[in-house]
Amino acid sequence: MNHPIDVGIIGGGPAGMSAALALGRARKSVVVIDEGRPRNRVTRESHGFLTRDGITPSDFRLIAREQISAYPSVHFVEDTVVTITGHDGNFLITTAQGTTYQSKKLLFAVGMKDLPLPVSGLADVYGKSAFVCPYCDGWELRDQPLVLIANGEKASHLAKTLSGWTNQYTICTNGPDEFTEEQRSELLQHRVPVFDSPIERIDSIDGIVQRVDLTDGNSISCKGIFFAPKLAAGSDLPQALGCQVTEAGTVIVNNFGKTSVPGVYSAGDAATTQYQVITAAALGSVAGMSINNELILEAWNRQS
Ligand SMILES: Cc1cc2nc3c(=O)[nH]c(=O)nc-3n(C[C@H](O)[C@H](O)[C@H](O)COP(=O)(O)OP(=O)(O)OC[C@H]3O[C@@H](n4cnc5c(N)ncnc54)[C@H](O)[C@@H]3O)c2cc1C
Repeated sequence: MNHPIDVGIIGGGPAGMSAALALGRARKSVVVIDEGRPRNRVTRESHGFLTRDGITPSDFRLIAREQISAYPSVHFVEDTVVTITGHDGNFLITTAQGTTYQSKKLLFAVGMKDLPLPVSGLADVYGKSAFVCPYCDGWELRDQPLVLIANGEKASHLAKTLSGWTNQYTICTNGPDEFTEEQRSELLQHRVPVFDSPIERIDSIDGIVQRVDLTDGNSISCKGIFFAPKLAAGSDLPQALGCQVTEAGTVIVNNFGKTSVPGVYSAGDAATTQYQVITAAALGSVAGMSINNELILEAWNRQS
């Protein structure tokens, strides 16, 4: 497909698909290019999306694709975008398979990446009994004994948040603790046990954590784990094209998803720190409508 399209959407998660739905209904030609590595792919259930609470991430995508297929101007492509050149009105998108697409506007809905923590046994439980967000998975582990793998400010923040779901949790800093005096005394006051020995391994059965073994010989029984992942931008493409990003890799956008580069938008986890499916979908929809408005105004002004 080598003819110009209205919008090239990079990333087909909730943000990209929601934008595609808005644009398809607005009769715009759209290509959604997605390499199929959504952030929540490890989870069995996705929670908190009104009308879809508890759905599997793959069913969510299936329903979305099915509904969007009613709009013939939207096309989905399974591929990885490797480079983007050009400018507002004429971007050239090149994929790993060597296909090129010309588009008038661009939307980066590339999400964020969770970089795996180097903890033995964590991969076996991630998404089954080890999670990153209490709002997504706290309910299922309410009132259960949990281990928090985090340190410093992240551990202090996570401990406070998690206290809304259970009061039985232990912090494993997995190495020397990085708390301030104030954080240390706060945790002591709330009787939160803190272990700072490195983690030897996480023992589990069929993905369900049994205990966290420390190198000092301690072993902490628990039913679940929350941990603070290291995050990285889902793709370097926005930055390569000149979009301003924060130190954490979040694309800087205005309230309509517009980046600092004309004709380029971003939505979802890529452009916010509120990591939720419903937020990503909402931001994708806003960006889709904004792109449509821009295209309509450009066409209107050309005619006058
Ligand atoms: C373990 C875990 C559990 C979670 N559980 C929940 C939950 O229960 N409820 C909830 O609301 N949220 C949950 N989340 C958060 C949720 O996954 C994200 O908020 C949501 O996926 C963001 O949607 P998105 O469209 O912005 O990005 P994503 O869903 O990550 O989609 C981005 C897509 O872009 C693609 N992409 C990136 N770069 C390129 C490229 N160069 N070319 C082509 N494609 C590319 C990726 O492969 C991916 O498919 C969870 C997150 C994690 C890590």
